This record gives sequence, structure tokens and C-alpha cells, in this order.
Amino acid sequence: SDMTAHFAFDNSYARLPGRFFAEVEPTPVAAPRLVRLNEPLARELGLDPQALASPEGVAILSGQRLPEGAASIAMAYAGHQFGGFVPQLGDGRAILLGEVIDREGRRRDIQLKGAGPTPFSRMGDGRAALGPVLREYLVSEAMHALGIPTTRALAAVATGESIYREGRLPGAVLTRVAASHIRVGTFQFFAVRRDVEGLRLLADHVIARHDPAAGEAENRYRALLEGVIARQAALVARWLLVGFIHGVMNTDNSSISGETIDYGPCAFMDAYDPATVFSSIDRQGRYAYGNQPQIALWNLTRLAETLLPLLADDEAAAIAEAEAALGTFADRFDAAYRAGLCAKLGLAREEDGDADLANGFLALMAKAGADFTLTFRRLCDAAAGPDHDDPMRASLGPDWEGWAARWRERLAREEGDGGGRRAAMRAVNPWVIPRNHRVEAALAAAQGGDLSLADDLARALAQPFEEEPSLLHLAEPPRPEERIQATFC
Ligand code: AMP
Ligand code: MG
Ligand code: MG
Repeated sequence: SDMTAHFAFDNSYARLPGRFFAEVEPTPVAAPRLVRLNEPLARELGLDPQALASPEGVAILSGQRLPEGAASIAMAYAGHQFGGFVPQLGDGRAILLGEVIDREGRRRDIQLKGAGPTPFSRMGDGRAALGPVLREYLVSEAMHALGIPTTRALAAVATGESIYREGRLPGAVLTRVAASHIRVGTFQFFAVRRDVEGLRLLADHVIARHDPAAGEAENRYRALLEGVIARQAALVARWLLVGFIHGVMNTDNSSISGETIDYGPCAFMDAYDPATVFSSIDRQGRYAYGNQPQIALWNLTRLAETLLPLLADDEAAAIAEAEAALGTFADRFDAAYRAGLCAKLGLAREEDGDADLANGFLALMAKAGADFTLTFRRLCDAAAGPDHDDPMRASLGPDWEGWAARWRERLAREEGDGGGRRAAMRAVNPWVIPRNHRVEAALAAAQGGDLSLADDLARALAQPFEEEPSLLHLAEPPRPEERIQATFC
């Protein structure tokens, strides 16, 4: 194959007016060294993995050298951070190289995160540390393997330079791939400047890129808004169903494409408790596990406000359009969440009373402090028959019996046998998630130069629905002394 790292760029965002971004080039680094490369993703993007791993490829992935046809821009955006509005944020440490059309015809952004300062860096150094870069790599790829829309990680490159945070840390650059990097905050950037022409250009760009069907609607901007609402409602339901806590659901971290974006202090819940918060910067618990649907709606309401000038000619009509669109969120979220919970319980068709049954199970888990992932995975075995109930008793205590009787009565009305049900449940209830104590251990080892823990974790997380016998230890919840109390970005 062609040994040059050739990107077939077609940079539609960079063709928008200059006020949408700042032109800036990556800052070269001392000694780039490839830490991880995502070969399947490279091939999906039409890139040659061998060429990317060559010195020429690593020069590109570290920002040392711009590939031919790259745009090299930092995107402008605003955002509500923990509820407070900041009129200008923008890519302070990320540089968009451009867009490629992948093998399936999908347009994908290629972005270097940690590639040096930009005009939006404010007081920041434009850099990223190896630990957080690897965290984003591992967790975003785990989310993808779980079937959850997410930005992807193409590569992690160590820079050979130190950066300064709580102390001196090894620096790194992540190559991030996304359907786009357009956020709720991108719309807010134009709205706060009363730049209606910019808003319209952005909205039309988003319609063409993410929602061509909306372009055919009677009110295309209302359809655009409803599309974003639908994608976010489905996304947050998926998060809850695997115990994911984003940690920083600011409007600038809320993607228009409906992908999970910006893996900072994100974490997966071990013991089930809707109030769970890990992020060290989320002191009020604004972004707690169970608050995520309501925060998504809050963010979408901010998006709707930016669209008012486009939704109708007079303000009252525009507000009515926005409110009607926002009113679809609750049903969409509830439907996705309920269907997901039913599948986790082995119920293929929904009946009245199923939501009650599911909530009863969650209440038992909360009361027992049971591990969310492990308990659902054990339930798959219990679906095969009551002789597999001991692990459930161990998770939930004596309360299990009463609930199990109700569940089995309900399962009796489902089609298929226990074996088939177990298999269907195992396809939606993962055996392994990126548990905080395992992620932290892998990052700490990697900082010391040992990548074996990160490799093992990545291997397990790549197949979350089928146990890897040699890696079962990665599925275990933390012992009390292993428990991580807080995560940092
Ligand atoms: P985040 O909390 O990761 O969503 O980042 C919020 C804002 O801070 C964004 O505008 C980032 O580009 C910017 N930012 C975060 N870290 C850095 C850094 N080290 N240097 C410059 N800008 C940064
Ligand atoms: Mg961000
Ligand atoms: Mg971040």
C-alpha cells in the first residue's frame, strides 16, 4: 500500500467565513513517540496504519508537520460552564486539521488535541498530559465498543516534553475523530454576538452535515432543533444504561451530532447510586449521574434560545416553536431509557408495569449498594433459571426473592427459552466497563513508561459483551481501599 500518510481532506467547516475560527498551526514538539494507534479506525478512515506509524505519520499525529490539504484551524465557540455563561471559549488546545470522507461515506473531523496554543487559549498552555490523553483514548473507544455514539481516538503520541499541572507531567497529543466538533456553544457564540447571518450559515452547515432530512421540512430550523434533541435524548439514555457519568456537561461539551464529546473527569459508576459524582470540579453535584437527562434538556434549551431568530418571523411564534420542540425531549428520553432497561431485564416487548419492575430492581440495587454492571451481568445468568440465583442473592440480599418472583412471572409471557434470553441479555449488559480504579492504575503505569496495563484494559474494553477469560480481573469492582473518590481533568 501507499506508504505516505495521505489524508483525502475536504474541509467544509474551513470554507465558512473567517469569524467561525482562527487559523493557527500546531506547535512542534521535542521528541514525538507513538503511544497508541487505532488501526481499525485508521483503515475505516481510508488511512494506512503503517504509514501513520512511520516517522512521517508520527510527525503529523504530533503536530510536527501539517499533512497536505489540512486546514489547521481552532474553532470558535462560547458556552455555559457549570451554569455560568462565557461568551468566548473556543479551541484553546485543539487544532482541526480538516475533514475526510470515510469508507462508508461519512464525513469525519480529524483534530489534534494538545497541539499547542491558539488564539483561544487564554491562560492555558495549549497542551495535554499523557494521563488524560490515554483516559480519553481508552474511555472513548470503550464507549464505541459499547455501541454508544462518541468521538473516537485515532492515536496518542507522547511529545517528549513536560507540562506543568499539579506537578511536572509527560505531555501528549490525542488525534480525535468526530462526526463534527460543532457544539451547542458554537451556536451560542453567534447568538450572543447577535450575528444572525452567522447563525443561519452554521445552522445550514449542520443541516447539510448531520440532518439532510431537516432541510426538506416545512420549518427546517425547527427540524434541526428536534434532530439535536432526539440525538441528545437517545445519547443520555445510553449513558444511564451503562452507568456513565460525563462529569462536565457544559454547553460547549454538548455535541450537535449527538456524540459523547470531551472526556475529562468522566467516570463509570460502580455501586448504583443516582447521586454519584466523581469530578473534582463538580462540587455541587450539578452533573451527577441521575441529573444528566435534566442537564441535557437545560443545554438544549440554551440551543433553542440561540435559534429563536431563525424559528419564526415574530418572537412569540418563535418561542412557541422552540417550546414545542423542547417538549419532545421527555418522551424521547423516557422511551429510549425504558426500552433499554427492558432489554437489560430480558424483556423484548414492553408491557404496562415493566417500568415499575425495572424501577423496583434499581431500588434494590440502590438499597444494597450493589454494583451496577456486575449485577446486571449476573442477572443474565439468572434468566437461564433459578439454579443461577446465588450470585443475585449475594448482590441484593434476601430482597432478591420477591423481585425475582415478579420478574419470572413477567418473563413467562416472553417468547423464547432461558438460553436465548440469557444470550440476548448478555448482548446488552457488558461484563466490563472502564472502572475508575483500573483506568487510574493504567494511566499511572503509563506515566512511568509501562503501557501493559493500558493495553490489557483496551483489549478487554474492545469486547464488552464477551468475556476475555485472561482478563476477568478487570471486571471486578474496586475493593474499599481501591475505590477512587474523585477524578481530575
Ligand atoms: P473543557 O473543560 O475541557 O471543556 O475546556 C474548556 C475550555 O478550556 C475550552 O475552551 C478549552 O479549549 C480550554 N482549555 C482547556 N485546557 C486548556 C489548555 N491546557 N490550554 C488552553 N486551553 C485549554
Ligand atoms: Mg471541552
Ligand atoms: Mg476537556
